[in-house]
Amino acid sequence: MDYFDPHIHMVSRTTDDYATLARMGCVAMSEPAFWAGFDRGSADSFRDYFRQLTETEPQRAAQYGIQHFTWLCINAKEAENVELSREVIAMIPEFLEKSNVLGIGEIGLNKNTKNEAIIFLEHLELAIEHNQLILIHTPHLEDKYQGTKMILDMLCDDKRIEPSHVLIDHVEEHTIGPVLEKGFWAGMTLYPISKCTPSRAVDMIERYGTDRLMPNSAGDWGPSKPTAIPDLIFEMRKRGHSEATIRKVVYENPIDFFSKSPNFHFTPRH
Ligand SMILES: [Zn+2]
Repeated sequence: MDYFDPHIHMVSRTTDDYATLARMGCVAMSEPAFWAGFDRGSADSFRDYFRQLTETEPQRAAQYGIQHFTWLCINAKEAENVELSREVIAMIPEFLEKSNVLGIGEIGLNKNTKNEAIIFLEHLELAIEHNQLILIHTPHLEDKYQGTKMILDMLCDDKRIEPSHVLIDHVEEHTIGPVLEKGFWAGMTLYPISKCTPSRAVDMIERYGTDRLMPNSAGDWGPSKPTAIPDLIFEMRKRGHSEATIRKVVYENPIDFFSKSPNFHFTPRH
């Protein structure tokens, strides 16, 4: 089945992964900007990273017939350095016209600190000013519930933000309800050790329905599985879900959401 991976960090994956994903049916992916595993030393380091996301990765992906889209930001882990964060935010408009850029992300919170909230709000301003979609990372484990609540409050306090233009990622059983109720899109991350497994994701689909919901692998440099979406497809088939239902969550929903960006030019396979 053709599918999208709406959240995967291909800069940290091998070319073999592109080949495997293509064989498993991945036709498009979106890659949010994220933490490199170490703090970057300067804004120029981000400029090079944004060139990699907007120039190099689309070419690597295209060799395997995969369309590559991306999102730009400085991540929450580096937001403690407010000065660097502001330099990066000031540079992002240089890249917003690049043909594969869908919006601002993955912004959000990590440890729910004051500086993280300041930089989150400044990213929201950037997105509003440039009419961009927004992709949001919610914190890990013990910080997730509180962090998701803080994020929802900040988003709902700003009436300029259209919830249907925002994807809130890494939802779990205790955060998916408020995200969907307030009209946002929700991303479920299928991770081998934390976040959500394929069977828990299918439980959530069965409980909340298929609207505004999409799975992703968030494959990156840590323990993660780039082929997690095919695992979810397999789990849904095993439970007797129709091909149309599966296709909606792994293919049609990402297309619906990404189509709100003028830069999303997707060519389906024929
Ligand atoms: Zn990520």
